[in-house]
Amino acid sequence: MIPNIKRWLFVNLLITSFLTLTSCDNETQYTNYEPNYLASIDATNLPIGNRPMTMFEDTESPSKMYDKKDRWFRVNQPLQIIQKGKDSVQVSLYSPVGLADVKIYAKLPNYDKRFLIYHFTKIPAFHRSFHQIPLVAGKNDYLLETGNAVTIDKIDGFSSGAIEFSVESSDPLFAKFKKIKSSQLVQFNDAYHINELGKFLPMNPVLAKEAITMILNYSYALSHPMYYETFTNFDRYKQEQAALAGTAINGAINWHGNTDDVNGVYDYLTKAEIEQIYLNYVDNRSLYIAMVGGSSAWGGGPLASQWESGYITGHWTGEMSVWSHEYSHHTGFNHSSNLANSGEGGGQQEMLTHFYKYLIYLNDLPFTDPDILKGWTKTNYLTGTYKKPVFTISPKNPFLLKYKGAGKWN
Ligand SMILES: [Zn+2]
Repeated sequence: MIPNIKRWLFVNLLITSFLTLTSCDNETQYTNYEPNYLASIDATNLPIGNRPMTMFEDTESPSKMYDKKDRWFRVNQPLQIIQKGKDSVQVSLYSPVGLADVKIYAKLPNYDKRFLIYHFTKIPAFHRSFHQIPLVAGKNDYLLETGNAVTIDKIDGFSSGAIEFSVESSDPLFAKFKKIKSSQLVQFNDAYHINELGKFLPMNPVLAKEAITMILNYSYALSHPMYYETFTNFDRYKQEQAALAGTAINGAINWHGNTDDVNGVYDYLTKAEIEQIYLNYVDNRSLYIAMVGGSSAWGGGPLASQWESGYITGHWTGEMSVWSHEYSHHTGFNHSSNLANSGEGGGQQEMLTHFYKYLIYLNDLPFTDPDILKGWTKTNYLTGTYKKPVFTISPKNPFLLKYKGAGKWN
């Protein structure tokens, strides 16, 4: 008798280079085969051939972070897999904290199952490296998502986009990344400080790391069910806030648009419009992050900017009012709308800031510990002087008063 008989599929993928042939239905059932999978990879300890590097090292030339073709990511995909040439991939992690147990699956156009091509036991913060696509190296066994094995013959190369990559991980940080609904494409753009030096200032990798940390946290906050619930019921938030504080409602009772207010008459948005605006906040536009140099921050079109202090300490303590304001300009709102205007009792800036602080209080953001970057200690790269940010929440925070420690996104 043969114990532990494994049923598995042998898939003979008849594929020539660049997938010109797409016949792949020649599956045969075998038994008692011990698949020989690829070895796991520890990205903290890679051979030189993988060209491992850390992006945004403090000492790295800022010209690298401003290389818009090389440095960009979508906020819902901080671990980015890009095919390079016909036979390799570039793996980049835009995160100030590394990931463990990362599985990268491939999907070929002519085979309907995803199979594991890389298993990284560890990927460190802001890591980048290059890896040969194992199918190019020779015939191999691969673990399917279903737990079965598949054998795929050597394939000489792949045209760009021929392989779809997807990522899974048991790391709790990755679970938070997966919840981010926004897919905005983040870049650092030097055009602002080159064209208007003084109004904007150049950034550096120390600031870029903080900005990436902030935009991942902010994108997670916008995606949070409690935020959606509050955003789409802002009138209720205003009523509850006034009731909890024992005051009258200050300013507009609901979201209103860009039309100028006339004696307290607002162009209130409909429920359907508010739903659509929420989707616009978490859409897939390009976001160019810049740094303010003059007396005011700016946003609009792809641009959102804020001061050095906002990047180094402000976001850690939840002071996200300026960022929220500029991001609202980026989303199409001007100062007559309470989506961008902080006056008259506060609109989104006020609500978002209270909400963001409540998430820090709940430890319900991807990153809440300023020690992961220690930006304030890197005085050679900063104009101002800063102390370690210390977070506190006001006992009058309307989210704390309403939810009393509940509401964490599980
Ligand atoms: Zn403004």
